[in-house]
Amino acid sequence: MSQAVLPAQNTSRPGRPQNELLSATGTTIFTVMSALANQHGAINLGQGFPDYDGPEDVIEAAAAALKDGRNQYPPLTGVPELRSAVAAHNKRFYGIDIDPNAEVVVTSGATEAITACLMAVINPGDEVVLLEPLYDTYVPTVKLLGGIPKLVRLSPPGWDLPRAELAAAFTARTKAILFNTPMNPTGKVFTPDDLAFIAELVQRHDTYAICDEVYEHLTFDGWKHIPLMTLPGMRERCMRIGSAGKTFNLTGWKVGYVTCDRSLQPNVAKAHQNLTFTTAPNLQRGVAVGLLKDDAYFANLSASLQAKRDLLGAGLARLGFGVLESRGSYFITTDIRPLGWMEDDVAFCRVLTEEARVTAIPNTAFYAASGAPAHYVRFAFCKNEALLAEALLRIEAWLQARAGR
Ligand code: PMP
Ligand code: GLN
Repeated sequence: MSQAVLPAQNTSRPGRPQNELLSATGTTIFTVMSALANQHGAINLGQGFPDYDGPEDVIEAAAAALKDGRNQYPPLTGVPELRSAVAAHNKRFYGIDIDPNAEVVVTSGATEAITACLMAVINPGDEVVLLEPLYDTYVPTVKLLGGIPKLVRLSPPGWDLPRAELAAAFTARTKAILFNTPMNPTGKVFTPDDLAFIAELVQRHDTYAICDEVYEHLTFDGWKHIPLMTLPGMRERCMRIGSAGKTFNLTGWKVGYVTCDRSLQPNVAKAHQNLTFTTAPNLQRGVAVGLLKDDAYFANLSASLQAKRDLLGAGLARLGFGVLESRGSYFITTDIRPLGWMEDDVAFCRVLTEEARVTAIPNTAFYAASGAPAHYVRFAFCKNEALLAEALLRIEAWLQARAGR
């Protein structure tokens, strides 16, 4: 993964060998590229975080909550206000009836939720089906838990589900599939047909589905997010993960929430108990206010992000990038070959940061297996429009200077 950019840690210090998997893992690409962006004064369109704040009422609620004397350990599965709000949100948007006392676990971000859901169901030796390109914690976490990742690759530009390969990846040893829709970095939103295909496999092989749905409210052009959990027969098999970071533009808060059947929730809760036990109570109470916001908030969230996608996408296309369709998430994928770039995506992102002073993420960072396409680059568009315009001007000037060299 990110080893191409930053070498794995030096393990030559004295002492017994430390954990092999972690010793062999580089620092996450997002941290590496953000550090490089800072070093060069670059506009950071790499790591996916907005440069604008979350809703004022949500922030006010969290600030006020610090001052009313509830600053000790909150309940293990989350404060009652937030568990109720998660249940109400599931009902309002997806028609899912959820018991807030038995079917919700609040976590410290979706990242913890992913680990907790995997811990809840897999034993060492179990196989977990994953779809590449993928978020960079999936493969290491599966491996750290003793699971065996079974990778199935989606291909650009359409990122269609390769059905035969996916079906072949499910075996008697498969315990779960973990996948992300709307999908980072591709911008794919899984279609009803995709989901029906996955649901059939999950049921036929008697497995679970861990559904990373952190971008559930960030879809464009009329594309709608559908939780796998809403398909027939799937309610008891799915662990559905949301994140306040994405839904309220508060990525630093690290508040996530798992919705799952009462048969799964105790193990998710016990995994959480062993990871962090609880999540900051004031932030939970702020997020509870957020999840109860009116429909207009959620509609505006995607509409305003779509305008940013259009600005950056059209600008990059005008500058000669091949711009792939993004139907959801914070991200747009671009093909750098039409620019005449002869090296790989890692070199491109390094030079773009150093010379154009704009940072993006090389798509190879989202692949664990070899042979990944090395000519795609991901840009985050969750930024103020003036900053996106400035980034485009910088890239344009850089391309012109290169052409003149
Ligand atoms: N899953 C995906 C696909 C993501 O892009 C992110 C981004 N941070 C996460 C999970 C983690 O979310 P959180 O910040 O809530 O841990
Ligand atoms: N999810 C964000 C992204 O894909 C970054 C999260 C992180 O920095 N770990 O860019």
